Amino acid sequence: MRWNEAEYTGWGRVRRASGRRARPEKVTSLKAILKDAPSPAIGNLRSYGDQALNTGGGAIDMTRLDRLIAFDPETGVLAAEAGITIGEIVRVFAPRGWIPTVMPGTGFATLGGAIANDVHGKNHHVSGSFGSHVLSIELVGASGRSRKLTRGGTPDLFRSTVGGMGQTGVILSAAIQMQRCASEIMQVRESRVEGLAEFLTLLDQSSADHVVGWIDATATGAGLGRGILEQAEIKAGAEPIGKRRPKSVPVNAPRFLLSPPIVRLFNRFYLRRVPVAGRHIERRLEDFFFPLDRIHHWNRLYGKPGFHQFQCVLPEDTAPDTLVRMLTRIGDAGVASPLAVLKRLGEGQAGLMSFTMPGYTLAVDFPNRAGTAPLIAELEAMTESAGGRIYLAKDALMSAGSLGRMYPDLPDFQRIVQKADPDGRFLTDMARRLNLRGETT
Ligand SMILES: Cc1cc2nc3c(=O)[nH]c(=O)nc-3n(C[C@H](O)[C@H](O)[C@H](O)COP(=O)(O)OP(=O)(O)OC[C@H]3O[C@@H](n4cnc5c(N)ncnc54)[C@H](O)[C@@H]3O)c2cc1C
Repeated sequence: MRWNEAEYTGWGRVRRASGRRARPEKVTSLKAILKDAPSPAIGNLRSYGDQALNTGGGAIDMTRLDRLIAFDPETGVLAAEAGITIGEIVRVFAPRGWIPTVMPGTGFATLGGAIANDVHGKNHHVSGSFGSHVLSIELVGASGRSRKLTRGGTPDLFRSTVGGMGQTGVILSAAIQMQRCASEIMQVRESRVEGLAEFLTLLDQSSADHVVGWIDATATGAGLGRGILEQAEIKAGAEPIGKRRPKSVPVNAPRFLLSPPIVRLFNRFYLRRVPVAGRHIERRLEDFFFPLDRIHHWNRLYGKPGFHQFQCVLPEDTAPDTLVRMLTRIGDAGVASPLAVLKRLGEGQAGLMSFTMPGYTLAVDFPNRAGTAPLIAELEAMTESAGGRIYLAKDALMSAGSLGRMYPDLPDFQRIVQKADPDGRFLTDMARRLNLRGETT
């Protein structure tokens, strides 16, 4: 198998790596690589920071190992290679009446990446995280040998591989439980929300399966926390809607595009696209679940310096006050982009290092400018003192010290990973930055 020297980045384009990359197409090639030069796997590089980077070392691009292995139309159990994307699974199976039970906000995430971050969707309060629907995983370890992991049979390794950021080895394939979908159309109710208290009440009261809030992170004062709430269900018996053509951002955008006055103006108009009384609309599944995927390379909108996403989850009791302080600080700083999301999370944490906990999650994108890292450090400190945690799939800045305080199962994770990969073959830039594996490695 050929290795190529390559430079690659996380989705935020702030963290970069150069090193060797291999892109095997066959399982035998993958195993041979892992035997000769065990290296961490990468999916579609949709994690924002340095999680899938390995500066100076090797990285195994899994995107050609993307075959469907088996599907049972009675039970909805799908087995597939790890490089298949969630979007491809939707394209193939939605017309047959099945979709993955949990889907992140991009269809470009691979099955392996979705497991490795135990991703959550807009239905976490109902269905839990992605890993809760993983039935088995074929994991190839540093020796090149594969093992089948299940929740009951190999609980330690299973719970350290789900949400384990690739530290136990390379996920070759997995079997997942899909859910039935009555059509390829979502019935969406959009409501305008005037402020944070109303937002949290509506999120708590919603009985919809899929709920997500867009929040105007530039608003301050009386408008703090205003936004749009989307509550959606899959519509039974709906006729398909025509696909819209994807667009692309061809080059890095100039800095003024996301300057504070333009973002404020954009947000004001965006809010008003929903009438005061709200409205019902229909959307294609993919447009609802993966709204940004229609704009290819949208990360170039932040220009060459790239961007950061801050995403935290806050427990129910501390969230209301903490969100007020966070949004006030973000609004005053004047650096937020239009991309800001508020969601409710429920029970359902399938891995030791899974991000989710019952509460609310706030995600805000910031262009990478002089004040951005200090602002995110402040938000990180607020998260920690509120008993919340930062989502590592989005992080490029967190300090190693915070990790253990936010992730209480870290010592167990480290013990299990140390046994699975004693020589640290699957270490990544993030794992080194956060001392994810502990001092022993
Ligand atoms: C627009 C957008 C919206 C998003 N919305 C959400 C959301 O709603 N919810 C959410 O939870 N996340 C969300 N994300 C984050 C994204 O879903 C995760 O970062 C996901 O893990 C990316 O998958 P990937 O295949 O690109 O993995 P990569 O980013 O390439 O890798 C992520 C991690 O998985 C490991 N990995 C990848 N493949 C394998 C494998 N085969 N075996 C072992 N380890 C592997 C890598 O080593 C790395 O640690 C979003 C990202 C974007 C860009």
